[in-house]
Amino acid sequence: MAWNIVIAGGGFGGFYAARRFERVLAPQSARVQLVTAENFMLYTPLIPGAAAGTLEPRHVVVPLREELSRTEIRLASVLGADPALSEIRVRTLEDREERIGYDHLIVALGSVSRVLPVPGLAEHGAGLKTISEAIAMRNRTLLNLEIAESLESRDDRSQYLTFVFVGAGYAGVEGIAELQDYVADVIDRYPRCRLDGTRWILVEALDRVMSEVPPSLADFATRELRARGIEVRTGTRLDSLDGSSATLSTGETIPTRTVCWTAGVKPPRVVGELGLELDGHGRIAVDRTMRANGRENVWAIGDAAAVPDPAKRGRAACPPTAQHALRQGSLVAENVAATLGSGRIRPFRYRTRGVFVDLGRHKAVATMLGIRLRGFPAWFAARTYHLVMMPGLQRKLRLMADWTVGLLFERSSSELGQLGNPPSLAGSLEAPSPGAAADPRPDEQRA
Ligand SMILES: Cc1cc2nc3c(=O)[nH]c(=O)nc-3n(C[C@H](O)[C@H](O)[C@H](O)COP(=O)(O)OP(=O)(O)OC[C@H]3O[C@@H](n4cnc5c(N)ncnc54)[C@H](O)[C@@H]3O)c2cc1C
Repeated sequence: MAWNIVIAGGGFGGFYAARRFERVLAPQSARVQLVTAENFMLYTPLIPGAAAGTLEPRHVVVPLREELSRTEIRLASVLGADPALSEIRVRTLEDREERIGYDHLIVALGSVSRVLPVPGLAEHGAGLKTISEAIAMRNRTLLNLEIAESLESRDDRSQYLTFVFVGAGYAGVEGIAELQDYVADVIDRYPRCRLDGTRWILVEALDRVMSEVPPSLADFATRELRARGIEVRTGTRLDSLDGSSATLSTGETIPTRTVCWTAGVKPPRVVGELGLELDGHGRIAVDRTMRANGRENVWAIGDAAAVPDPAKRGRAACPPTAQHALRQGSLVAENVAATLGSGRIRPFRYRTRGVFVDLGRHKAVATMLGIRLRGFPAWFAARTYHLVMMPGLQRKLRLMADWTVGLLFERSSSELGQLGNPPSLAGSLEAPSPGAAADPRPDEQRA
């Protein structure tokens, strides 16, 4: 009998688990189903590059069907699970509820933005976690320039030319640096905006940016951002916002139309519907082999799981990073294969080996195997690392092509917000002319 393995979530963790299953399991020994909301894996470290128009959105995703040959890919939304019956509940693309049984389940459902109850945030803030949010941020930035260019009053223009990012982790620092760089590239095409200049503010509640990297590199990044005119406000929170201003915990009110929220992640709500034990942060509690507490045949990895961090002797959970999720994915596949009789179960042992933070303009900060780099060498190392990590030769070449073109030419300033929202044909429907309505034949046959 073939084993029935279900992976829920096709991001870093789920994709690498499926890929490893294809290598470690004999073709007839198991049926592996990957149930996921999208048919691609989003390579999140390149999201800021897509938001800044350096990279084509299609070049920062990995189509699952191109990279997985033996895995059954099922596009559906996971709604919950019943571990006692070894079943998950899903909503299919045709909006039907179905149950999928499993012998082993791997939960890799990732995370969503952690949106705090700041007045006005849910209504007026924007995220930078998904590819649609990245492209929407780029379009919003361009639209702001277009609107500001059309306004007579300098005060009115300044709201549109001020950009506030809240949360100075990877996403916030890379996001603000790349977008500011992008605007610097295109602003000459907007004469009024160029005269006024733009204002960029990075707000962070902690006393320094990027708690993921050593303080010396965070200081370098802060100096670099400040040298470019980005105002870095540490020890400061966003207190409230409305459609035209943001108020900080310092009492300062900043006129702005754009607040990008990049202040942390949490597991998606569905994780609480899986019947599994959770830790204090809502992540699935697992042991060092990534098996869910109290369950023989359920495993959890990536941002949705609290995998004990070997770097902290297991006293805290691994940080929510792609480099942890993909290694947990590969190892969990080996551990499941081991329970089915091939190999032995091993604990997760990976410790962070390096961190790259791309600051745009050929600068970055990085640590690699204890070596600290900054400026151009770090930027070059970061790009090389992503080229190596991006699955598929074709995709690596596309990235290289985008980056090379970006070095030689200016970026496009076309605002393509209409993509994905095509006009309905109903809007162009002609009134039926009397007589013609009853005869469906084309004109030439109707003579
Ligand atoms: C802007 C940004 C930059 C980042 N930069 C870095 C970096 O430089 N280095 C680094 O190591 N990490 C980085 N990260 C963090 C990294 O992206 C995550 O830690 C990593 O993606 C976690 O992998 P995962 O498999 O747990 O989740 P994900 O990769 O998020 O995958 C989760 C998958 O589950 C699917 N899913 C979710 N809910 C459902 C549902 N109900 N039904 C079906 N499918 C569902 C999603 O569609 C997705 O495919 C960055 C993150 C962001 C947002």
